Amino acid sequence: MSRPQSRGRRKAAFLAEAERMYEALEDWYDAHPEASFGEMEAEARKRRRELMGKTLEQLVNGRDSGQQVEAPKCEQCGEAMEFEGYSEWGVQGLEGESRLERAYYRCPHCKGQTFFPPG
Ligand SMILES: [Zn+2]
Repeated sequence: MSRPQSRGRRKAAFLAEAERMYEALEDWYDAHPEASFGEMEAEARKRRRELMGKTLEQLVNGRDSGQQVEAPKCEQCGEAMEFEGYSEWGVQGLEGESRLERAYYRCPHCKGQTFFPPG
């Protein structure tokens, strides 16, 4: 799981993913030297989806996992909620799947729970 990171670190993580994608395409082309342009495109498209999913994951998780500076108030009883940890959730986007995480809070009073960002 990722924690908030500087923009430079998020970018480095993206570039590392992009490099892995490119290397994978090189390997694939080595193994399929007779591939048509259309087949290359189909292969690149699959990997593009993976890359985009990971990119958005990095962009969102690396920027903010929803932990608030001030504890949110319980919607039921108005008590300050306690930060419990991070919870993972999957988002199926147009460009592949991302595993996002968000902060999870629990009310010590009535055991209500909530997530940030709400999803
Ligand atoms: Zn409560």
